[in-house]
Amino acid sequence: MLTKAFLLKTKKRLLSERNELVEKSTQRPDIDTDGDETDEIQGNQLIELQNQLNTRNHAKLKQINDALRRLEDKTYGVCQDCEENIPEKRLSVNPYFLTCVACAEEREREDKRKRS
Ligand SMILES: [Zn+2]
Repeated sequence: MLTKAFLLKTKKRLLSERNELVEKSTQRPDIDTDGDETDEIQGNQLIELQNQLNTRNHAKLKQINDALRRLEDKTYGVCQDCEENIPEKRLSVNPYFLTCVACAEEREREDKRKRS
């Protein structure tokens, strides 16, 4: 069972990560638009980069929101496959883990089988 202190700490961590992401994704790159061709190319590259970043941030944001929802539902830290508790140590490494080590390995094997 996860301790209350750990859950609280995780919640704080998730919330601050979410704030950071939201701040980052609302920033726009500085683009010089005086019609210079090189600037235009650089500007396009910047937009491209920003879009990639936003896609990544979006996926991350979803992970964070999902984890926060599980915290609210009291299902946080329970393996989605075998319903065993996921050890604190594993969740400290990555608070978004949905499965225990054994099931994560099992899923990986399954993925490899599907791919081959
Ligand atoms: Zn499991």
